[in-house]
Amino acid sequence: MSIGEDRYPYPVAHIGIIGGGQLGRMLVAAAKRIGCVCTVLDPYPNSPAGQLSGQQIVGTYHDPAALRELVTACDVTTFDIEDIDTDVLAELLREGHRIYPCPGLLADIQDKLRQKQVLADAGIPSAGFEAADAPSAEAFAAFGYPLVQKARRGGYDGRGVQVMREAADFAKHLPVPSLVERFVPARLELAVMVARGQDGGTVAYPVVEMCMRPAENVLDLLIAPARIDAATAAAARRLAVDTVEALMGVGIFGVEMFLTEAGELLVNEVAPRTHNSGHYTIEACTTDQFEQHLRAIAGLPLGATDLLCPAAMLNLLGEPGFKGRPVIRGLRAALAIPGVSVHLYGKAETRAHRKMGHVTVLDADVEQARAKAEQVRALIRIEGEEIA
Ligand code: ADP
Repeated sequence: MSIGEDRYPYPVAHIGIIGGGQLGRMLVAAAKRIGCVCTVLDPYPNSPAGQLSGQQIVGTYHDPAALRELVTACDVTTFDIEDIDTDVLAELLREGHRIYPCPGLLADIQDKLRQKQVLADAGIPSAGFEAADAPSAEAFAAFGYPLVQKARRGGYDGRGVQVMREAADFAKHLPVPSLVERFVPARLELAVMVARGQDGGTVAYPVVEMCMRPAENVLDLLIAPARIDAATAAAARRLAVDTVEALMGVGIFGVEMFLTEAGELLVNEVAPRTHNSGHYTIEACTTDQFEQHLRAIAGLPLGATDLLCPAAMLNLLGEPGFKGRPVIRGLRAALAIPGVSVHLYGKAETRAHRKMGHVTVLDADVEQARAKAEQVRALIRIEGEEIA
């Protein structure tokens, strides 16, 4: 990679990606566009990202030899998941390899309790919390209901999060080291993608609205821009940038927040990577989140984040009751709607609620975009060749 001089050999950079899922896949697509090549590390051969990059190391994210092989072969390494052995990465960083975001920050974020502490120390507002390393009915009652229990490690897409309204709900607690958090009566859940370059410069994307599926605490529908007033949007973007600056992260970050009934903004959590709430940027923004991340970690100038058109985004989840090779129903009908883009992730097997793809709908009128997304939801189904 060129340092200083504006002259690059081709390929421009060899990027290592730990994690071969859909985020990695979309990162590889963006990397190819800007003249980079990628090698992916994933435990499963022919992973969604590996299919596109053509180069994959098969190994786990905790395998020191596999991590070393990847990082030493690449100019810069990044990740599309968080559950990685950060000690090995820290060692490789000390040896002079480039890894963004840096392993120390990943370690802070992997542990939800540490993440909350780091943000609280930096003065970033979030829901009040307490450590709960050995969850007990007494400790939860003393903290006070309603509360939200969160596993310190390993949770994602709502797994590892338990909302408890009253003491009787302790029966469904997670028996793992956790934190407890005040239940936030949220008017809306918002997210802002922020990229920070190696020079400390930042760019923020528009504020988006995340509609969650309450039973599973998982993203159901995303609306860009969020239907909030300009002052709240400006405050949310400011808070997201402050958060990423406090973490001194390099790369792209998804900052999830609550807008409370009282109009207050509280940071929920930070993803140190591209994020489901940023998929809409592929069609709807000047620079998409994947290219933006690559620009940040490769030391290239950050791109413009303008919203070119309002959008709605819907995840395509595996239909319960099916498994095996996916079968896509309703694709033709969905694509017949103007403004609809379908993304399928190349996963060899479907299962209930697995993220198999997503759909972005553009429309000059955000309510129309949302209505079309609901139409698409009723049309497309990801079934499987086998009955589960
Ligand atoms: P994950 O890492 O699994 O996405 P989150 O911390 O983002 O976990 O929680 C998932 C969802 O649970 C949130 O999007 C929100 O809907 C709900 N939730 C999390 N924390 C709280 C809270 N303190 N108050 C109310 N709802 C919450």
